[in-house]
Amino acid sequence: MNSTNKRDYYEVLGVSKDADIDEIKLAYRKLAKKFHPDINKEDPNAKEKFIEVQEAYEVLSDPEKRKNYDTFGFRGVDIDIGDIFRGGIPGIDEIFESFFGGFGGFGGFGGFGSGNRASRQAQRREIGQDIERTLDISFKEAMFGAKKDVVIERYVPCSACDGTGAEDLSSIETCPECQGSGRYRKMTHSGFGTIIRESECPYCDGKGKIIKNKCKVCGGRKVVKEKKEIKGIKIPSGIENGVHLKAQGAGHIPSRDAYPGDLYLKINIEENENFIRRGNDLFTQVDIDIIKAILGGKIVVPTLNYKKEEIVDKELEIPPGTQFGTEFRIKNRGATYMRGKGRGDQYIVVNIVIPKKITKEQEELLLKFRELAPT
Ligand SMILES: [Zn+2]
Ligand SMILES: [Zn+2]
Repeated sequence: MNSTNKRDYYEVLGVSKDADIDEIKLAYRKLAKKFHPDINKEDPNAKEKFIEVQEAYEVLSDPEKRKNYDTFGFRGVDIDIGDIFRGGIPGIDEIFESFFGGFGGFGGFGGFGSGNRASRQAQRREIGQDIERTLDISFKEAMFGAKKDVVIERYVPCSACDGTGAEDLSSIETCPECQGSGRYRKMTHSGFGTIIRESECPYCDGKGKIIKNKCKVCGGRKVVKEKKEIKGIKIPSGIENGVHLKAQGAGHIPSRDAYPGDLYLKINIEENENFIRRGNDLFTQVDIDIIKAILGGKIVVPTLNYKKEEIVDKELEIPPGTQFGTEFRIKNRGATYMRGKGRGDQYIVVNIVIPKKITKEQEELLLKFRELAPT
């Protein structure tokens, strides 16, 4: 493209030379919507105009390129149109998606690591707040694994004002207090002379811009609450109580440029009356009567069937003379190891129930038993 025919980038976007990034974005998004060839089918020049808008935005939204452009004009920016549109004209959704930065990288659940927050922080982009929620799951879900859906509430940039907080472009004005510098100078006179202190302008919070008419949808807060359903969260078999599952990018999104925060789901496993977990082993207490303890016999215990993914009854033969507190081990019927292979075991702990009331006849028999029993 011959640079002499080109329109000034600020003119293309219809913004002033001192427009801030919010104004540039707002202008770009409006024009991109207006001229996108998928939307504007009447104007034969729409595609050309769209490319012009896109190019202006590429330069003005990048502080480095913008500075070069401001200083050297078109020669200062080395824009390669072919590079911008390598894959043809971007889809309209793509344009708006691109504002979400890393949002596409929805890292998925199951991460127990610390994530890459630090590396993102190094890039000096704002990072949204994380959300922490408790996720209640049943004992069975913890043992066999499950897929869960959760609904979270989070802040996202207001779509009505494109996250600028302004009703329209003209309602963003230069701060009258600091004339757009964002700095506030306070002079103090003393015997030593005049001391000038500089601080952030309190009127505009150092932004240099004020919003005259606030967006009616978000009230100028730039963000709105969104309900988001996250489906099919994978709960791995054997998950431990209190573990956090992380969904990267599912936290709050404070602005279009920001990295979204993450969502942490703290696992809360409901108690099950039949199983107590210690590490990866499960303990099940069974009550047997005194006769069975002496004579031995069959007992029925609940146990995990990993093939059916059900808690099933299992018959167990206990030997004569079983003592109170005896533990019978059922191998591999415990919880799945989250790190490494295999499962823990299940222990059946015997509790012998002594009858509190017996009949006259039973008493006579027991007295006879005592006579015969070796001491
Ligand atoms: Zn100000
Ligand atoms: Zn708004």
